[in-house]
Amino acid sequence: MLSPRKNIYVTRPLLPPLEEFVPYLEEIWASRWLTNGGRFHEALEQELARYLGVEHLSLFANGTLALITALQALRISGEVITTPYSFVATSHSLLWNGLKPVFVDIDPDTRNLDPARIEEAITPATSAILPVHCYGIPCDTESIGRIADSYGLKVIYDAAHAFGVQRDGKSILANGDLTILSFHATKVYNTFEGGAIVCPDAKLKRRIDFLKNFGFADETTVVAPGINGKMNEFAASLGLLQLKHIDAALAARKAIFARYMEHLKDVPTLETLRVPHGVKWNHAYCPIFVRPDHPLSRDELDERLKAEGIYARKYFYPLISEFPMYRGLHSARPRNLRVAHDIAARVLCLPIYPGLRLDTVDRICRVLAQSAVCMEGAA
Ligand SMILES: *Cc1c(COP(=O)(O)O)cnc(C)c1O
Repeated sequence: MLSPRKNIYVTRPLLPPLEEFVPYLEEIWASRWLTNGGRFHEALEQELARYLGVEHLSLFANGTLALITALQALRISGEVITTPYSFVATSHSLLWNGLKPVFVDIDPDTRNLDPARIEEAITPATSAILPVHCYGIPCDTESIGRIADSYGLKVIYDAAHAFGVQRDGKSILANGDLTILSFHATKVYNTFEGGAIVCPDAKLKRRIDFLKNFGFADETTVVAPGINGKMNEFAASLGLLQLKHIDAALAARKAIFARYMEHLKDVPTLETLRVPHGVKWNHAYCPIFVRPDHPLSRDELDERLKAEGIYARKYFYPLISEFPMYRGLHSARPRNLRVAHDIAARVLCLPIYPGLRLDTVDRICRVLAQSAVCMEGAA
């Protein structure tokens, strides 16, 4: 009898061999320095900035706190232009700052905020733009930067998907006024939970460092109503160890993505991601977009995969603008967000993670290919 197949999920967290983590834990136990800018925290800030090719970076307990704090650090007020095609944390960070999200439609090719639609959404209350490098594919940072400059707006990039992504040999994380990262377990690089703000200068980093530690500038001085956003030593030390394995993890992702593309090029009714020229991508996600002329709908295809024990995910469906706390906004009306609605209705993210076997990818692609075969005459 065949042994039952294990379920395949969209992602599986990256973990180093446990024995490699033990020396880090021993050091934490010996020093009893558990948090508040310990040795591992300081070392990880340095090592990550070097690895990512950015000037300054401030570690956080998670990406959401990094987003909330980035908006505080730049004293953003009023309205912020953002994308509905993202994880809810992007817009939630605005509500937690008392800011009003203004949704703008996305570009059908990049699935990122459409620069051509930004200007018409600007009002006297607009103070910032919060785009997302969706799936790790870079935004049109040049156009967004030009618009921001001419209207005096700040730009904060949500780069939760874009760890390590480069364009023309330069980090994508160095764009805008601030950029945030997430090191959540499900992301390309993780510290179980974690995040960071990438910032261009040391002065702003100092302000961010105060803000993530209750606003303390020194033992007795509080300069702002800060929050507790600090990364602890356990997470920071794991982060240092994960960095030793990240290049191998990225290479594994690349090979898996290439295998998917090899198969899916023969299934034109399932569109795949196009990676722009000059971009060194991180293969963070493997979305497919089910075309209307595919014999199965997205949801039917999802069910077909589930029947085979393959658990894909609808990233991002529903759109953020459809959730109850956003639905009433003028900018959330579906006819303002036609492209985003179309993509959200057709997307399915396939399993991709280091350790996913290529013969499993072959098996997933067989299910996808069979779903494309015209079912005329079938019962
Ligand atoms: C994961 C994610 C976040 C939130 O990060 P956490 O570390 O889980 O708080 C924010 N934005 C996007 C686009 C994400 O995918």
